[in-house]
Amino acid sequence: MNIAVIGGGASGMVSAVILAQGGCEVSVFEHMPRIGKKLLVTGSGKCNISNTDMDLSHFHGTSKTVIKSVLEYGSPDKTRAFFEKLGLFYKDRNGFLYPYCEQASAVVDILRFAIRDLGIDVYTDTDIRRIIKCDRSYGPEHEDRFLIETADGKFLFDKVVLCCGSKAARNTGSDGSGYKLAGSFGHSIIKPLPALTSLICEETFYPSIAGIRTKACVRVYAGRGKTGDFELLAQDEGELQITKTGISGIVVFNLSFCAIRALDEGRVVKASIDFLPEISDDGINGYIRSRIGSQPDRTAEEMFIGLFAKPLGICICKRCGIDLGIKCSELDETDIARLCECIKRFDTVITGYGGFDQAQVAQGGVSLDEVTEYLESTLVNGLYFAGEILDVNGDCGGYNLQWAASSAMCVAEHIIGVYN
Ligand SMILES: Cc1cc2nc3c(=O)[nH]c(=O)nc-3n(C[C@H](O)[C@H](O)[C@H](O)COP(=O)(O)OP(=O)(O)OC[C@H]3O[C@@H](n4cnc5c(N)ncnc54)[C@H](O)[C@@H]3O)c2cc1C
Repeated sequence: MNIAVIGGGASGMVSAVILAQGGCEVSVFEHMPRIGKKLLVTGSGKCNISNTDMDLSHFHGTSKTVIKSVLEYGSPDKTRAFFEKLGLFYKDRNGFLYPYCEQASAVVDILRFAIRDLGIDVYTDTDIRRIIKCDRSYGPEHEDRFLIETADGKFLFDKVVLCCGSKAARNTGSDGSGYKLAGSFGHSIIKPLPALTSLICEETFYPSIAGIRTKACVRVYAGRGKTGDFELLAQDEGELQITKTGISGIVVFNLSFCAIRALDEGRVVKASIDFLPEISDDGINGYIRSRIGSQPDRTAEEMFIGLFAKPLGICICKRCGIDLGIKCSELDETDIARLCECIKRFDTVITGYGGFDQAQVAQGGVSLDEVTEYLESTLVNGLYFAGEILDVNGDCGGYNLQWAASSAMCVAEHIIGVYN
């Protein structure tokens, strides 16, 4: 059986190796000059390959049933065993899994070596013009097979695996052309939008607090109008980074997918930041009172020094309409209540987001309603999908590479007939 793998990224390379180990003749088509370009930049060059916490809540997509089944079959243990057999040792950093040497290039290398050793044909710099599923009219040799047209010629395959990635970080090769190939077979594409990216906010004070990093709990809400009812879409706790235009950091990356989808649907989106998630409203109220009591002559501007970065303390006072020059002892009950509210529910209106070039992944993609649990198309026999081309996006923390490996394993093991 000969198989075409379109896309030499994470899922394409894993698929190709398992297929070849299972006895298939495999060709990888990659339109970049080399394979594995995106893998090289993952985890800031260290490649966060997986995570010990594989709760399904870290994965987002239209069908949790398909996601669950793929992650159960191509489980983290099974994919780890696959990588370890190729020579990759894992390192566990508080549940975040990396190659032991913390070099993404090591992951690319071990996959490249396996591809070479297994005799897999790799066609780089190769654009796919079209892929056709041939019927009887193409003649007996072609019937029920896939004809792939490239600038270099035509190739005939028994099965095709589309591993073209998404539209995120185009400079690494994923330019969205995979969606067109899937669409040419009649597949529905859930509108691709960026995910794991920063959010742009409406307020003008951001340049004055840019650069601040702090632990925070962020909640994202969406409503139909600015004053109407807001629905809580998601919340997360972790490192928040303030930028000149809004909010970023891992906690924001993880929430960005739902904020962006809601903005795209024309909803009003806001985030509410809790700058002291470990302290209750009453606790903060008591804390401000004790500061006033112990430092009555300090100015409001100086009040939060030691708790928050100074510009953030100033910003909070200004948002509460408190004159920075007044003494702490002059703050009244209303001021204290406003400060507590602002620290626990620092609301900000989300108006935009970092685009595909800044995003680590895309949400949306080939609908999971049109694939089996082993990711074969329900529209075209012999056509499979793996990786980010599908409508699945994971949180930061190794979830997207785990999805790439798990999905590749399901597909390849189904093709070689060992899927059970
Ligand atoms: C900066 C950055 C950091 C990241 N860090 C992490 C991390 O630490 N951990 C984690 O889990 N995830 C991380 N991710 C996400 C992760 O890299 C992706 O989810 C994963 O690589 C997706 O694998 P894939 O095989 O589906 O797609 P890709 O790895 O994007 O591979 C797709 C391949 O297909 C090729 N291709 C596309 N279209 C065609 C075509 N028409 N013809 C031929 N070839 C084509 C592309 O050139 C590319 O090589 C990161 C992403 C970025 C951008």
